[in-house]
Amino acid sequence: EAKGSGRNGVALFESSMQADAERKLTLERDLALALENGELAMHLQLQVDHAQAPVGAELLMRWRRADGVLVPPDVFIPIAESSGLIVPLGNWVLRQACAAWHRLAGAGHPMPLSINVSPAQFRQPDFVDQVRAVLQETAAPAGQLIFEVTEGLLVTDLDDTIARMHELAGLGIRFSVDDFGTGYSNLAYLKKMPLYELKIDKSFIRDTPNDVNGTAIVQSILAMADHLGLRVVAEGIETAQQARYLADNGSPCMQGYLFSRPAPLEDLLAALDKTGAARAAA
Ligand code: C2E
Ligand code: MG
Ligand code: MG
Ligand code: MG
Repeated sequence: EAKGSGRNGVALFESSMQADAERKLTLERDLALALENGELAMHLQLQVDHAQAPVGAELLMRWRRADGVLVPPDVFIPIAESSGLIVPLGNWVLRQACAAWHRLAGAGHPMPLSINVSPAQFRQPDFVDQVRAVLQETAAPAGQLIFEVTEGLLVTDLDDTIARMHELAGLGIRFSVDDFGTGYSNLAYLKKMPLYELKIDKSFIRDTPNDVNGTAIVQSILAMADHLGLRVVAEGIETAQQARYLADNGSPCMQGYLFSRPAPLEDLLAALDKTGAARAAA
């Protein structure tokens, strides 16, 4: 009896693993076509300073399949990474960022744009050449681009990573550590790398200011960034209380639903024109 159910258990487990694998393969196949089928879009989310003035925006990829289903990045980005599709996708994102920068600047809202760069993309042998080529082709200023990398990139091949970062920094690109504090990290990398910014992960912000541990982590990151001369962006700001707390504690830049949701460039442009007009009238 026990043996029988055990066998059934195993069979069930295997078939669900198989279903998972099939689902993943289907997603991978669909994702490979998504780019040419025009199913991918970029959304932008504003970053603001303590006075809620815009200081930049992050580009976030969106995939709406032909059947209308919106696939979340947390599902398709890992598939893009494991299949290698992240290389053409990442290249597309870079081009989108350069085009968006020109649109924003042309509308009177020049601002630095942040893009997420996956380790697999960053480690492509010709990554620096690709970036250089896109910059040349689009005539976008490298100094207006921030590459967000995660601590995962910083734990292996450290010397190669640092050398490559310096090469890109030489072009004018700035670097930000995304989801700071959530990955394994030997903090020694912080002084070896040409970094510009740390992004406090939203999991720490969620606990602020009510939870003492969350608050302690936020305080420590702010103090450390201050000592290292790094800019801080706190992400996932959802409440006025969180924003007030940060304004009273070092005033980092902020990004979150409280200020703006990720949205298409046209929506961002409209919102910027509106707040610009409101500021001018005030
Ligand atoms: P991330 O880079 O840390 O981006 C921030 C995520 O937090 C975004 O999720 C954003 O929509 C979400 N967010 C912003 N404000 C709030 C808030 O107030 N509350 C909450 N709960 N969430 C907020 P999204 O767009 O689903 O992206 C998830 C992750 O997927 C990103 O995390 C990033 O790691 C990855 N990703 C997205 N676009 C790209 C891309 O173009 N390339 C790469 N390599 N990764 C990307
Ligand atoms: Mg990011
Ligand atoms: Mg993040
Ligand atoms: Mg992330």
